[in-house]
Formats: sequence, structure tokens, C-alpha cells
Amino acid sequence: RLAFVEQAPPDPILGVSEAFKRDTSDDRLNLGVGAYRTNDLKPYVLNVVKKAEKIMIESEENKEYLPIEGLAAFNKATAQLLLGEGHPAIKEERVATLQSLSGTGSLRVGADFIGKFLPGRTVYLSNPTWGNHKNIFTDAGVEWKEYRYFDKATVGLAFEGMLEDLKAAPEGSIVVLHGCAHNPTGVDPTREQWGAIADVVEQKGHMPFFDVAYQGFASGSLDDDAWAPRFFAERSIEMMVAQSYSKNLGLYAERVGAINYVLADAAAAKRVLSQNKRIARALYSNPPVHGARIASIVVGRPELFAEWNEEMGMMAGRIKDVRQTLYDELVKNNPDKDWSFVTRQIGMFSFTGLSPPQVENMTQKHHVYMTKDGRISLAGLPSNKAANLASAIVDSFKV
Ligand code: PMP
Repeated sequence: RLAFVEQAPPDPILGVSEAFKRDTSDDRLNLGVGAYRTNDLKPYVLNVVKKAEKIMIESEENKEYLPIEGLAAFNKATAQLLLGEGHPAIKEERVATLQSLSGTGSLRVGADFIGKFLPGRTVYLSNPTWGNHKNIFTDAGVEWKEYRYFDKATVGLAFEGMLEDLKAAPEGSIVVLHGCAHNPTGVDPTREQWGAIADVVEQKGHMPFFDVAYQGFASGSLDDDAWAPRFFAERSIEMMVAQSYSKNLGLYAERVGAINYVLADAAAAKRVLSQNKRIARALYSNPPVHGARIASIVVGRPELFAEWNEEMGMMAGRIKDVRQTLYDELVKNNPDKDWSFVTRQIGMFSFTGLSPPQVENMTQKHHVYMTKDGRISLAGLPSNKAANLASAIVDSFKV
């Protein structure tokens, strides 16, 4: 009998949408989930995705199982997007790539790999981080701790604290780093700061584990958004990288992503891949094909690739515009407060600094749904609601 099973708590991010659906106010705004919306709040299917699907239907591809490691064309494309075309690590076959179930599944395969082959090593997560990181490593049976990341006083990076914590971590720890557009803070290290972080990682023999969920979606440029992991690769630091195509190709429900290991030699990469296949086999056997085909067609055809870059630029541009509009409205509403953090932050989110009771006020009084940590997704904000949102934020800071 399973009568003893207790109710699991609602997911802190996906639970926000459930609460939103129950609200009937015309003013309601769902800024919880990080999914792109057009300015009319419609979900957006990229034109390049529709074109790739048309090509797929015309070529009548079959639905046979993929190999455990996934679609070869996708794996080739995804490693190239990550490191840049013609990267020596790719040429020298030092990269092990396994297609997995979007960012989450890729992180989980990586977590299981750490549990199996790096037993006793602790994973260090930024404080704060995307909440699911904790679930993933906990469920994989891997111990995790936190390093300082966010400084409330400056609404910026707690750079010194971060370095201290990484220095104090036992040698050979695993450090989870957000490739760009840190979730939930929108605060990224500068290139100079990345240099200092890499120095510590190198000195301590730590293993970076990059979570790349927003490549191309943050700045509109695939290359700029991959700067940090590429910089570590240039310095020949062995690393793990999870990739997601949920945001940049809008393939949320297709579960397209990969786990990569950029290693010192080809023989190790081959063995590491074989062990990742072993892990994936027991978890889900082999990955889904539809989204991987879309991604490999878009990357593989120059005209589609160019159009994809334009569409990413458009999505990133809308978010940047609405961020600026929100900033302008906040300044108009309360010129005495320093709101510059809003436009300094990068990517889809703004970390407002609202406390849990203030967030409660946002929801109860103003019908604005957001996560309890004070994060709002600008991707869910139409420009004509920015003024309302600004006055709700200014009002809630008074609570
Ligand atoms: N990592 C981070 C930091 C994220 O924000 C997300 C998406 N919210 C993911 C990973 C993974 O998402 P998905 O599993 O849809 O690729």
C-alpha cells in the first residue's frame, strides 16, 4: 500500500504557471516561466523550424531508433556551435558528445557520470542558481554545495566571495558555471573576471561543468554567448558542457540538447563517450529524433543558419527593448532609486531584489506571477504592460 506517500511540493517555477491559470483578471501577467513570447504574448515557432520540418516531411525520414549517443549530424553540429567551427579539440577528436534530453537530461547524464566516475567529489553550484540544478544532483546522489555568486548590495557579482569559495573548495571539485545569461540573476562575470575564475579552477584542478542554455539567445550572437566555455577550452582545461536548444531554437517540448566532454586526448574521449552511452541506455535508451533533425538541418544549411541567426537576434532584441522600456518606466515612477541593474542584467530574466512578501504583493494585489526569489522573465512582458509592471514593482518595494 502506498498510502504513506506524501504530497510533493509544487515546482517553484512551473507551479507559478498553474497559479496564473487560476487568475481571471485582465491585468494578469505570467513572468514565471522562462519561455519566449511575442509582444502579443504568443508562443513563437521559429520560421527556420517550420522550414526544416517541411524538408523532413518531404524526405520521408523514418522513425527507427537513434543510436544511444544520438543523431551523428546533430552531435557534430552541436559541438561545432559550442566550440566554433574547426576547433582543434573537434579536429583532434577530443570531444565526446552525447545527444540527450535537452539541457535537463544532459545535466542529469553528466551528474550520473560524476556520481559513477568521480565519487566523493563535491559539485559547487552558484548561490543562487536555477532551482533544478539542486534536484538533478540530489537525485543523482551527488553531493553539492554552493559558492557565493550574487551580491545583494550591488545587485551584481559577488566576485571576491566567489573566488574565495572556489579556492576553499577541495581540489578536483566540480564547478557548475552558467555559460551566459546566469539564471536567475542575469549577472555574468566580465571577460576579465572569467580569466580569474579560470586561474582558480586551473590551480585547484577543478572541473568546470558549463550549463549552456542560452547560446545565441542572450546577445543574439552564438559566438559571443559561447565566449566563456570557449575561453576555458582555449586554456586546455578539461570540462563538461550541457547544451539546450529550448530557447535559442524555441524547441522547448522537443527536448533537444547534448552533454559534451572536452578532454585532453582522443582515447579518453572515446572511453568517456562509451560510459555515457551506458548511462543513457539505462535511463532512456536513446534520444528523440525529431528535434535533433530540425537542429541539424538548420545548422547544416547556410541559408537556414543565416535565418536562424536573424531570428535569434530578433528574439534577443525584443527582450532587450522591453528591458529598456521597463527601466524607463521604473525611473519615471521612482527616480530616487537606482534601477540601473535592470539594464545591466543579461538574458531573459531580471532579478528584481523583491523579497518573498513583496513578491506576494506583486501577485495578490497586482496579478503579476513570478518566482518567489524575485525573478521576472522579460520574455513574458509585452511593451504595453511595462508601465503597469513598473508601478506594481515600485508599490511592492514599499511593503
Ligand atoms: N539550465 C538553465 C540555467 C536553464 O535556465 C534551463 C531552462 N530553464 C535549463 C538548463 C534547461 O532547460 P531544458 O531542459 O528545457 O533544456
